Amino acid sequence: MKYLPVQNYINGQFVAANTSLLIDVISPLDGALLSTVPMSATADLDDAIAAAKKAFPAWSKTPIKERVQVFFKYKYLLEKHLDELAKLCSEENGKTYGESVAEIEKCIELTEFATSLPQLVTGEVLEVSRGVECRTEYVALGVVASIVPFNFPSMVPNWTMPNAIALGNCMIIKPSEKVPLSCGRIAHLLKEAGLPDGVFNIVHGGVDIVNAICDHPGIEAVSFVGSTKVAKLVYQRSTANLKRCLALGGAKNHLLVLPDAIPGMTAQNIIASMSGCAGQRCMSAGAMIGVGNIDHIIDKICDEARKIIAGENLGAVINKASQDRIEKFITEAEQQGAKVLVDGRNTKVAGKEKGSYVGPTVIDYVTPAMSIAKEEVFGPVISIMRTNNVDEALAIENANPYGNAASVFTQNGGIARYIIERASAGMVGVNVGVPVPREPFSFGGWNESKFGVGDITGKSSIGFWTKLKKSTVKWNAESGINWMS
Ligand code: NAD
Repeated sequence: MKYLPVQNYINGQFVAANTSLLIDVISPLDGALLSTVPMSATADLDDAIAAAKKAFPAWSKTPIKERVQVFFKYKYLLEKHLDELAKLCSEENGKTYGESVAEIEKCIELTEFATSLPQLVTGEVLEVSRGVECRTEYVALGVVASIVPFNFPSMVPNWTMPNAIALGNCMIIKPSEKVPLSCGRIAHLLKEAGLPDGVFNIVHGGVDIVNAICDHPGIEAVSFVGSTKVAKLVYQRSTANLKRCLALGGAKNHLLVLPDAIPGMTAQNIIASMSGCAGQRCMSAGAMIGVGNIDHIIDKICDEARKIIAGENLGAVINKASQDRIEKFITEAEQQGAKVLVDGRNTKVAGKEKGSYVGPTVIDYVTPAMSIAKEEVFGPVISIMRTNNVDEALAIENANPYGNAASVFTQNGGIARYIIERASAGMVGVNVGVPVPREPFSFGGWNESKFGVGDITGKSSIGFWTKLKKSTVKWNAESGINWMS
């Protein structure tokens, strides 16, 4: 085993969980045993919440300009340890080193945003009638929770943690049991940056801990990122317990390609979108909808796909079960009449035979009724559907229950605008394969890709991590006696 067994992080200390149930942490790159992760008991969660509650009064009363000093230092530490953090991310998640570097760079950008929060939470003040002043203040909620998925072991924790904590909250994070190591490094860096003990805590586990978070009266707000199935469960359970909840789910992102699209650029963007992080991004291009004759672009897409080599510029998928699931989607589509133009099934990487790899896959003549067209595949696979006009293409996009991202490739600004206005997705793009908004803009989809109000990052997240206090103040200065009437 390469690393020590993973432990919880409570009140500034790494501590063993109250359980004998440990799960192996396996590297998708080569099947190596990296560590074990505990399936914590609810008593461990109680301890973490108690520590966070104890830390909350002093932390929330610390002026925000002081609180963000921790994140200036944390940002510096992320930069200093970028190589090490990227290697760990790659080992536990399976993405390439380059993709992992990009992930840590994104954590740095998210932290930069958190350091700017004092400029964004100044509140408002107005003399609403003679001598009477109303003002608003953003007030921290208390102890909040963040439940995160496997596909971005560092970035998704950094979507929530810096903003929530800089705004004065104390946090319990529940990492994915598949990638629990990066969060431990985040805890080390926060401690080194000067974050007081108890403000940030990690409780490892699975379904039981997630349910306990949703039920626990000591937690004010729950943020969740993961599959739609679990997002719905977490949203329903947390809100039934009268908590604030924002739950981001899965996705099926559509790229609409028109015949006038620039072939080389379009093909590069589509293949980068579908194969980046081995297709395990909630913003990955899963479905392409061609409008009219786009055969010349499909040829280029296949050329680009063949340049993507597993173990070189393509990472592993998270585990063998995921590999089998992705290959099953491809085989079923083929049996139903789709044409596999580039086939990534049965991919092996020499010397890493125990790794879980799927090569880049391009499938043409997929129909909207096929499972591969409707469901999130979460692998490096692009399904091509063909339509005669833009409205037909939009009807397919609109009918899908998800709504994270949609993009259009064209040189016609009017048609691009027509599609942007009608796509049923929270994040849309023109000639962009992965239309992720960058800070200070916020990240969040629509429909079954997100449950709850507001977005999880950027300016929009301020509303989720705080509550507004409104004060009305009147001083009778002339009378010399300061009484409210
Ligand atoms: P997942 O839903 O299986 O797991 C997410 C978290 O929930 C993990 O911490 C896990 O331990 C926990 N969990 C799993 N099953 C549970 C259950 N039955 N009850 C309670 N908790 C449970 O997701 P994943 O496989 O780790 O991540 C991939 C998914 O996340 C994809 O669907 C992807 O699209 C989605 N995702 C969405 C976004 C977004 O912004 N919308 C971002 C990243 C990932």
